[in-house]
Amino acid sequence: MTTTSKQALKTHFGFDNFRSKLQEDVVKAVLKGDRDVFVCMPTGAGKSLCYQLPAVLAEGITLVISPLIALIQDQVDRLKSLNIPACSINSKLPVGERRLILADLGSSSPKLKMLYITPEMVASPTFQPCLTGLCSRGLLSYLAVDEAHCVSQWGHDFRPDYLKLGELRGRLPGVPCLALTATAPKNVQEDIVQSLRLRSPLSFVSPVFRSNLYYDGCGIVYCRTREGCETVAHQLTKLGVLAKPYHAGLKAGDRTEAQNEWMQGKVLVIVATISFGMGVDKANVRFVAHWNLAKSLASYYQESGRAGRDGLPSSCRTYYSPKDKEQINFLIRQEVSRKQAKRGSEKQTDKTAITDFDAMVSYCAQEWYDEGDASSEDDGSNRKKEFSDLFKRQMNMRKVADGQKEAFVPP
Ligand code: ADP
Ligand code: MG
Repeated sequence: MTTTSKQALKTHFGFDNFRSKLQEDVVKAVLKGDRDVFVCMPTGAGKSLCYQLPAVLAEGITLVISPLIALIQDQVDRLKSLNIPACSINSKLPVGERRLILADLGSSSPKLKMLYITPEMVASPTFQPCLTGLCSRGLLSYLAVDEAHCVSQWGHDFRPDYLKLGELRGRLPGVPCLALTATAPKNVQEDIVQSLRLRSPLSFVSPVFRSNLYYDGCGIVYCRTREGCETVAHQLTKLGVLAKPYHAGLKAGDRTEAQNEWMQGKVLVIVATISFGMGVDKANVRFVAHWNLAKSLASYYQESGRAGRDGLPSSCRTYYSPKDKEQINFLIRQEVSRKQAKRGSEKQTDKTAITDFDAMVSYCAQEWYDEGDASSEDDGSNRKKEFSDLFKRQMNMRKVADGQKEAFVPP
C-alpha cells in the first residue's frame, strides 16, 4: 500500500514525499475506503491531495464539492497541467462543454477522474440524472467536501447550499465521504460531521499552530468591552488560532468552560475583559496582549504580569490607537461623573482615575520625553527619559491607526 501511494504521488503529482505524516495517513485511510474521513489541517498543508491522489488511483469518478468557482478553476487547471482528467460543471460553463462532460459521464467507461462542482450545482435539477446514473452504475468512488466548515453556522463562511449536501450524502450510501477544512473549533467540527451525515468518521486533526509561527504558548488578549472580546476571538479563530471569549455577558457555565479549556491548553488564547485573571494561576502564559489600553500603568503592569510566571521568555504588548483613547477616556470620565453624581461630591480618587489613564496614554502616544528632552541639564528629566525608553521597549508598544487594528496578528 505504502509503495503504491508513494509511487503514485511521484508519478502523478511529481512529489517525492508526503507533506506530512498526517497527509500520508489521510491518503491511506481514504484509499482503504471503508470509513468516512474528516480532515482538519491548516491552510497550505496539502488537503487537496488527500482526495486527489485516491481519486487518481480509484476506478470511478470522485465528486468534489467546493464553494467557489475561482477555487475550482484553480484546481482543475492544476490537475489538467498534470494530465489528470478533471473538470467542473458550473453555471459559467458554455453549454457545448457541459454537454461533452455529461456525455463522458454517461458513457460506459468515463475518462474523467474528478468532477468539481459547487453546492448550488449539486442541488440543481439538471445535474440530478447524471448523479443518479453514476451512482447506480457504481462509478462514484468518493465524495469529497472541501471547505466543509461552510456547512456550519458557527463557521465564518456559512453557505446555506452546503446544508443540502447532507441529503446528497444520504442518497449515496455506499460512497465513502471525505470532509476537509482548516477551521478547527469543536462546535464547527461537530456541525460538519452531523450535517454531512458522516458515519463515525475517522478524524485527522492536526495541531492548530503551524510550526514556523511562534504561537507555541498560550496567551491572554485583554479587551475593554464584551463585543471587543467576541470580535477578536472570532477573528483569531478565523486566522487559525483557536480562541474563546471570556466576559461577564456569558453564562457562568460558558465562562468556566472557556477558562478550563484554556487552562488545559485546548484553547490557546482567551480573549477577556479584565474580569479574567484574578486567581488564575497558569505558569506557561507566553503572552499577554492588550487590544485596548489598560486604564492605568499599574493595571497594565498587573495584567501583563500574568505572562511568564514559569520564568521563560514571554511577551507583552499593548495596542494603542487614537480612537481607543477617545473611547476609553469617555468611559472613564462618564464613570467618574456617575460616581460623583451619586455621592454629590468630588473625591481625590476621581482625579486619580483620570490622571492614571492620561499617564498610560502619554506613554503610548510618546508625548513625553522625546529626543529633545534628553539634552536637558536636569538630572531628573534624563532619568525619566531612560525610564521612558526602557518602559516602551519592555512594554512592546504598538501604535496603530484605527483602521489597521482590523488586521490584527497575534503576538
Ligand atoms: P490546503 O487545501 O490544505 O490549503 P493545498 O491542497 O492547496 O492546501 O496545497 C497547498 C500546496 O502544497 C499546493 O501547492 C500543493 O501542490 C502542495 N503540496 C501538497 N502536497 C504536497 C507534497 N506531498 N509535497 C509537496 N507539495 C505538496
Ligand atoms: Mg484547500
